[in-house]
Amino acid sequence: MEALRQIAPALDAVALLARVHVAPDSEDADAFTALVDQAREVARPKALYAEAFVEGRGDDTIRIDGITFTSRMLRHKLAGVERVFPYVATCGHELDGVALPAGDVLAQFWWDAIKAELLAAARAHLLAHLTDRFRLGQTARMSPGSGDADVWSIEQQRLLFALLGGVTPSIGVILTESCLMIPNKTVSGLLFPTEHDFRTCQVCHRESCPNRTAPFDAAVWQSLRES
Ligand code: SF4
Repeated sequence: MEALRQIAPALDAVALLARVHVAPDSEDADAFTALVDQAREVARPKALYAEAFVEGRGDDTIRIDGITFTSRMLRHKLAGVERVFPYVATCGHELDGVALPAGDVLAQFWWDAIKAELLAAARAHLLAHLTDRFRLGQTARMSPGSGDADVWSIEQQRLLFALLGGVTPSIGVILTESCLMIPNKTVSGLLFPTEHDFRTCQVCHRESCPNRTAPFDAAVWQSLRES
């Protein structure tokens, strides 16, 4: 596995103000910008990945470097794929150590928006690194717990963390008993080469999700269930 810790925080206060709908010449803008400055001092976004290989396939299972994952959809999406890249990317635990004004819900909301921006920087850095180092073309990714519940169960986060090994000591991300990751602005998954664009959102029924990147696709959903 390899950890990426030299990721520029890249916090653009003006762009962030627009994202949280704060007018640039308002009092709130001063308070928000002060938070951004505070975040810049401590932020250390990070990522961890490994190069892993498919060793076996069942009807709805796939074995990767000795670990067997159960997901019919993952098995289907990895048909013909031999090499995958398990990863975790995070805004970094350092921001969770900053004491915000007690009871200030707005500051908490803004802090979360800043953390989301740091996570986006970590994800972009990881993708650029993998694409360059391994000469990858088009890729797709799947994550335990992402999409409808039966796509790939969130409990399989444990297996993903086992596949990577040493996530907590390496980049400070903790996996809780309920399989949530801390810090909250952290993502994990398997990245793999593909000839066809695929996003888990295409097979997810959650209509009001603010993070949707592709519309639900009934044809893709049906084809994966029948495969
Ligand atoms: S629609 Fe939302 S919950 Fe569903 S897979 Fe996409 S980002 Fe995840």
